[in-house]
Amino acid sequence: METTDKTKVKGGEFLIKDTTFQDVFIPEEFDEEQQMIAQTCRDFLNTEVYPNLDRIDKLEEGLMPSLLTKAGELGILGVSIPENYGGFGKNFNTSMLVADVIGAGHSFAVALSAHTGIGTLPILYYGNEEQKAKYIPKLGSGEWKAAYCLTEPNSGSDANSGKTKAVLTEDGKHYVINGQKMWITNGGFADIFIVFAKIEDDKNLTAFIVEREFGGITMNPEEHKMGIKGSSTRQVFFNDCKVPAENMLSERQNGFKIAVNILNIGRIKLAAAAIGASKSVISTAINYANERVQFERQISKYGAIRYKLAEMASKVYAVESANYRAGQNIDDAFAELVAGGMEESKAKLKSTEQFAVECAILKVWGSEALDYVVDEGVQIYGGMGFSADAPMDRAYRDARINRIFEGTNEINRLLTVDMMLKRAMKGELDLMTPATAVAAELMSIPDFAEPDESLFAAEKKIIKNLKKATLMVAGSAVQKLMISLSKEQEILMNIADMAGYVYIAESALLRTEKLVSLKGEEACEGQLNLMRIYFVEAVDAVQKAGKEALWAFAEGDEQRMMLVGLRRFTKMEPFNVKAARQQVAQQLIAANKYFY
Ligand SMILES: Cc1cc2nc3c(=O)[nH]c(=O)nc-3n(C[C@H](O)[C@H](O)[C@H](O)COP(=O)(O)OP(=O)(O)OC[C@H]3O[C@@H](n4cnc5c(N)ncnc54)[C@H](O)[C@@H]3O)c2cc1C
Repeated sequence: METTDKTKVKGGEFLIKDTTFQDVFIPEEFDEEQQMIAQTCRDFLNTEVYPNLDRIDKLEEGLMPSLLTKAGELGILGVSIPENYGGFGKNFNTSMLVADVIGAGHSFAVALSAHTGIGTLPILYYGNEEQKAKYIPKLGSGEWKAAYCLTEPNSGSDANSGKTKAVLTEDGKHYVINGQKMWITNGGFADIFIVFAKIEDDKNLTAFIVEREFGGITMNPEEHKMGIKGSSTRQVFFNDCKVPAENMLSERQNGFKIAVNILNIGRIKLAAAAIGASKSVISTAINYANERVQFERQISKYGAIRYKLAEMASKVYAVESANYRAGQNIDDAFAELVAGGMEESKAKLKSTEQFAVECAILKVWGSEALDYVVDEGVQIYGGMGFSADAPMDRAYRDARINRIFEGTNEINRLLTVDMMLKRAMKGELDLMTPATAVAAELMSIPDFAEPDESLFAAEKKIIKNLKKATLMVAGSAVQKLMISLSKEQEILMNIADMAGYVYIAESALLRTEKLVSLKGEEACEGQLNLMRIYFVEAVDAVQKAGKEALWAFAEGDEQRMMLVGLRRFTKMEPFNVKAARQQVAQQLIAANKYFY
């Protein structure tokens, strides 16, 4: 298999090329300035958010906007806004670090991410000079707060089907917007709304920058929600809302593209926030397990509890590895595009679009890791996990939304495969050559070479094989089902699971390899175990998904041959995962927090 060149790595290529550890960024490499930014965010949570969680969740009038204003004054909202608009112009991975730390901030994290992400970025990336000059400095400083109005009562996942209309006035000076938007985060207090509407009988949406001051905007009361209760969520009605024609964002019918591209960024940042929330929940769970005594022993002494702590940590470590790897890929692609003469805001979008497959995978794996973590967090707390006066209750409820917004996890799984196949059809991603090579390998005699005992040799082989398994299943599904594959959602989900596990597991391997190269093997025993624990899950999951797919679409000898191949490609030497979990749990218990 070919190895990628750092500056030329393309989205989705992880499945067909190998990456070397020198080419990935790991979170341990954040520099002093980035650590200071993270510390500012941590301090903000400790002083402004955590003492006020109950007040926030009661939606106390004015509290959330005042917190956003304070965050703006500290520069937290402007980290990735260019300096000429009053921000700090930091790279993408620094903004991911902010999302990660703030991610532990419950409803505040949602308000902040809606404001800085889907609220601000459409203007930053698609606005013209006048629009950027007018809005970005005030959004970056927190003086104005933003919301994003895409979803409608009858148009959720199918976002382009919205009914909201924008009609040009006779004098051509205004668009008059009429329609109803639903689930609008920050709706209750936003000054600026990014509104998606259709002009005449257009096929695609058009985006507008709408100021609350324009008038013609009314709202339903706050939604009653399962979690993130402190995040303002409103239905927003536009009744003859008159918007100056110059407030159209980008071009007519470009709105759906804006929505999709901004969501790519939202997805990977959601994963960062989910990781931050997970790390905080793991620390809380360890604290409790170390304190709670049953049968005269701390419950952290029990293997059943240690199992949970290690599994929680392993998933988070793996997804975090992938998140910052992809973030760096985006930063590298951006630098290359700018060096090639592309304008910065275009390059930002293009670089994220290139890694849209990874963004979709991360959204799914990040939110599902968080859900696993909060569920086990409740379990470790026992009855107190079910108490609304103990911390796991809020963590559990707040986590759940992450599998729903920014594109549901079903939609993101489907998109993962759809985007890869479309790139393959366009000739941008050569999936078929390696898939055909794997098919040929199935006919050959397996390689019985002496096992390579060197560190990471076994894991590298596993990753190579998991890629082969995925290519074999995806390649033959394409050949067998052709056009109808797009309707075979269960099979597409199977393939998405295979590809996702490959990406996350490989990222955990690359991070660990880099860490060992920097600190030595002995210092990285915990990380080695976290990675290997994840591999046990990944290998099983790839095998299960592959088997289900092959049972569904293949038949006879061909099916038998591929099932044999799948077994060959998902073979793992026995590994004492129990001992690995014990070692990780002991480290966590000794540190009394998540620290990897
Ligand atoms: C708290 C909260 C905050 C939100 N904030 C915002 C915001 O600020 N701005 C905004 O515009 N929107 C926002 N949303 C909306 C959110 O993005 C949508 O809820 C989400 O996209 C799903 O749409 P839906 O609720 O209509 O579900 P539906 O699209 O009706 O989906 C229902 C189920 O069907 C599945 N499904 C749908 N289509 C398919 C398909 N083709 N194939 C397979 N399965 C499918 C889904 O995965 C899901 O499981 C928010 C939602 C919530 C709950």
